[in-house]
Amino acid sequence: MSDIDTKYTALGGPGGWLGQPTSPELAAPDGIGRYRHFQGGSIYWSPSTGAHEVHGAIRVKWASLGWERSFLSYPLTDESTTPDGVGRYNHFQGGSIYWTPSTGAHEVHGAIRGKWASLGWERSFLGYPLTDESTTPDGVGRYNHFQGGSIYWTPSTDAHEVHGAIRGKWASLGWERSFLGYPLTDESTTPDGVGRYNHFQGGSIYWTPSTDAHEVHGAIRGKWASLGWERSFLGYPLTDESTTPDGVGRYNHFQGGSIYWTPSTGAHEVHGAIRGKWASLGWERSFLGYPTSDELSTEDGTGRYSEFQHGSIYWSPATGALVCKETIRLHVKCLTAPTRFSINTMISNMRLTFATAQVGVKYVSFEVLSLADLNDLDVGACTLGSTTTEQTQLFSHRNSAGANDIVVYFVRSTVPPFNGCASHPTGRPGAVVASGASQWTMAHEVGHVLGIHHVNDSNRLMTGGGTDNITNPPPDIIASESATMLGSALTN
Ligand SMILES: [Zn+2]
Repeated sequence: MSDIDTKYTALGGPGGWLGQPTSPELAAPDGIGRYRHFQGGSIYWSPSTGAHEVHGAIRVKWASLGWERSFLSYPLTDESTTPDGVGRYNHFQGGSIYWTPSTGAHEVHGAIRGKWASLGWERSFLGYPLTDESTTPDGVGRYNHFQGGSIYWTPSTDAHEVHGAIRGKWASLGWERSFLGYPLTDESTTPDGVGRYNHFQGGSIYWTPSTDAHEVHGAIRGKWASLGWERSFLGYPLTDESTTPDGVGRYNHFQGGSIYWTPSTGAHEVHGAIRGKWASLGWERSFLGYPTSDELSTEDGTGRYSEFQHGSIYWSPATGALVCKETIRLHVKCLTAPTRFSINTMISNMRLTFATAQVGVKYVSFEVLSLADLNDLDVGACTLGSTTTEQTQLFSHRNSAGANDIVVYFVRSTVPPFNGCASHPTGRPGAVVASGASQWTMAHEVGHVLGIHHVNDSNRLMTGGGTDNITNPPPDIIASESATMLGSALTN
């Protein structure tokens, strides 16, 4: 008896479901194995696989692929019931064919079969295959669709599953022919345990029950990643990347804010009350344009601000969000650090008071100067429009400062002793601040540089009675003073 005869006998012979032979045992066309057809199916044998039966829809699928000469080659099993009790399968040397009454018979093989197996075969969320392995429309990859999702493979990306709402989003964008390309991961749980994501060649799709599935890619995805993905204050995306109404930029909204990008400004986040203020003005179509920074902390941590193409928005708990239409560019050069209030406190206080006058502060540079001869600076009578020889010498140290940038020099003292002095040579805008200065001195002196003068009112920044005597911090800058500051050539 041949091995085929033995298998036939074991399956019941002529009285079994195979019934009567319809052919003699013959050599297979590939020259390796042998087979015999019966009324109810076939038995195939090869030296390495032994004899196994194939029948029904699985046999029809195998035949349609080319029998043993197909990539499936010879059967490794008889037709068997799947562990879930619903379907039937044969394993072959080159893959498997799975069948259920509702899905029909489909082959699965190679890396896609390996991925499906690793997930738990038909008992996984993928269920049974709905297609044979097929070539993608772009001609690069391969896929099987399953009841519960799909597995996509390319030589460079390997095989990954995509399913559910994420698969739906990917499909809506155009599958692998979209900018997303092929999946680089299976669907995975996010580190915060709330959401799910697939990474793709060209971006990612993130899903949560409350936000649904949205794609994020490119520089916006890079910014989001740099902030900490969904664990950042931004949380999950609420939109796909979208074109701004002005047609120039791109954005994603997130649970906790937005990221805006343009070719010239790059990608920056904006959130909270500052975002609310920007939105109320009309987003990127407002005079502010696009954000040019993420939200930043003031130097002393008491305030926040975001810079935009044409201004900034400042926020503090005391003031809420304030729009700065113009900006000064500030450089600090330090001969002696102040002793009562830090430079950071003075700059932060200047940001606060100036924001109430719609003037923002761009802190451009800090430099230590070793100029012992100018550390107790002769300022004469500190008369605006005239300078001493020492002031002229000190203000010649501008380095990178532009012609309309303001340079504040921190010195040990002035001679005679003042908290500061705003007189400066023509074309070298700036001021000096002494080490014993008050927390408002820097703002006060820069106020002079911007063209506002002393008043007899200790509620106001420009009080002539000494900024240590200010009675209502932060001190006021009144509307006409704001207009003067905004009209200065030093605000832009
Ligand atoms: Zn003054």
